[in-house]
Amino acid sequence: MLYSAFIFFLTGLILGSFLNSLAYGLYYKLPLWRRSFCPKCKKIIKIKDLMPLLSFIFLGGKCRFCKGKISWQYFVVELATGLVFILFFVKYGALNLFLWRDLFFALILIFLFVFDLKYYLILDKIVLPALILAIIISLASGLGFLNLIIGILIGALFFGLQHIISKGSWVGEGDIKLGALIGAMLGWPLVILALALAYIIGGAVAVFLLVSARKKFGDILPMGTFLTAAAIIVLLWGEDILRIFGM
Ligand SMILES: [Zn+2]
Repeated sequence: MLYSAFIFFLTGLILGSFLNSLAYGLYYKLPLWRRSFCPKCKKIIKIKDLMPLLSFIFLGGKCRFCKGKISWQYFVVELATGLVFILFFVKYGALNLFLWRDLFFALILIFLFVFDLKYYLILDKIVLPALILAIIISLASGLGFLNLIIGILIGALFFGLQHIISKGSWVGEGDIKLGALIGAMLGWPLVILALALAYIIGGAVAVFLLVSARKKFGDILPMGTFLTAAAIIVLLWGEDILRIFGM
């Protein structure tokens, strides 16, 4: 069990590292298979400096060549993906289809999280194929058709209506598609929980940023990061939370 958990953690670290690289590559339209380079001095990063977590620590968060700072995002995303992998493994305690489904959904969500956090953008070319896959996988893993449709509609309409009312100033079109995607992954009624949780997390982060004067009132926060984080939490513990509330 402990050994398997460690393997899951390592796999998560490596995939987290890959998601970081994928996000950077997609944003700057670089080839998918390329050697990673330092964004500041453009030197190719040595293989031994590509170890998730460890390289960042050994190098003190700096490039080996130019000593330019490496974003803490790399470290955090690797660690978070590793931890998410362990948590899902512990949740199921066995290698079953639900575990693979949740890990796959989590990887998509982590990618969208990183991308929206960094670039304030939700990519159609990720969200739309992910939506189709999520519909197929959810149906195949036993989510009822009606629960799926209601989940998608609630996710999409919740942001769609805000988009229309505010003429696009509160939420972007990407949030509507992301809402639909999360609805397809979670279905009814878990989608409601994810939406509520996203606003609780978003509110808490906004208060923290205002109080610590990192942001001022009226600054935009990327909604997609809260939504994706909330969706992962609901994938992990949503059913337990509903049970606590007697639903
Ligand atoms: Zn450098």
